[in-house]
Amino acid sequence: MSGPRIDALLRLQEGMESVSRREIEELQLRKLNALLQREKERGGFYRDLPEKLGSLAELASLPFTTEADLTENAAGLLLCSQSDIRRILSDATSGTTGAAKRVFYTEGDCARTVQLFMAGLGEFVFPGSVTLIGFPYSGPYGLGDLIARAITDLGARPLALAPGLSYGELEELLERERPDTFVGMPVQLLSLLRVCGRGSLRRALVSGDACPEAVLRGCEALLGSRLFPHYGSREMALGGAICCPAHEGMHLRENHVLAEIVDEAGRLLSPGETGELVITTIGMEAMPLIRYRTGDITRILPEPCPCGSQVLRLDAVHRKEGTELAALDEQLFSLPFVADYRAERRDGRLILTVLTCGAGELPDLDAETKLRPVTKADRPLYLRKRKVVQL
Ligand SMILES: [Zn+2]
Repeated sequence: MSGPRIDALLRLQEGMESVSRREIEELQLRKLNALLQREKERGGFYRDLPEKLGSLAELASLPFTTEADLTENAAGLLLCSQSDIRRILSDATSGTTGAAKRVFYTEGDCARTVQLFMAGLGEFVFPGSVTLIGFPYSGPYGLGDLIARAITDLGARPLALAPGLSYGELEELLERERPDTFVGMPVQLLSLLRVCGRGSLRRALVSGDACPEAVLRGCEALLGSRLFPHYGSREMALGGAICCPAHEGMHLRENHVLAEIVDEAGRLLSPGETGELVITTIGMEAMPLIRYRTGDITRILPEPCPCGSQVLRLDAVHRKEGTELAALDEQLFSLPFVADYRAERRDGRLILTVLTCGAGELPDLDAETKLRPVTKADRPLYLRKRKVVQL
């Protein structure tokens, strides 16, 4: 393996000889123009946009795509035939209209995401490794399945974490299977490490809607190594940006995703400035999006990466919405005795059930709190917490 893995991925997928800024941007303009032309030919959702742009800078003159556009125009946004669809991800809980937001993938979309996962996981998953996958399995071509394929292709063994295991069962699993690596949600990892200990676990990749600093730092202290954060979303076929050995931001799959950062009013911001991430998924076969407002807050790191890659990097990403829950994660998990918690709203009142793994006191949280020591018979609460809470 020579050079940064993200560069190798671009060479592999695009046949690029060198991965310089100039070549990346030429590739992006070429793919963007090919997409605009496809839209015209197929009479797609974006058919009224210009057929060709003279430069990447002209992208900023095109209108945004919103979440409402996705829920209302899924058929128009689809650029392939139904028979080529391998996976549909539907999210009935999002969207302002109450309709489900659906994103479609082809075989090629999924295969390219597996290659991205291999580039990200390849930094720390080695042949012979056993990797615990904490993400829920949602069937073929779902997130868990694509990660498992990447791990298998790296010569390692994926170990899917069955939902609903108690901490005692998790501990037994760690002892029996001896996984050395973990892929999943940061809160899930921290809770596991605090209650069961790290066992054979040494390295981890974490991804999720929000990665509070306290959770990340807590995981790193208990694992004894730096985490490899990953950023992805359904709109970019689940894989978006991967961490390199420099651990300074995440390299974006720039042959697949064009990134812009905008302020509240939609004005373009400069590299280094924090705002909302807007993506144009030039690499998506089934359902490419043009200037989609992700609702994710981040910035483009302006300095060159110490790893030598010229591929653009995103800083840590936070959700624009749901920040109260992220704030609770931050507050509670910064306390070393918190094993896990559940947050619920009842009659407008916030009720927190906190499982503890040591002595300590909660700060004043303006909530009704119930504390009790965690037992091996308890099951982690994080998945239910995401559903129950109504903040
Ligand atoms: Zn790097």
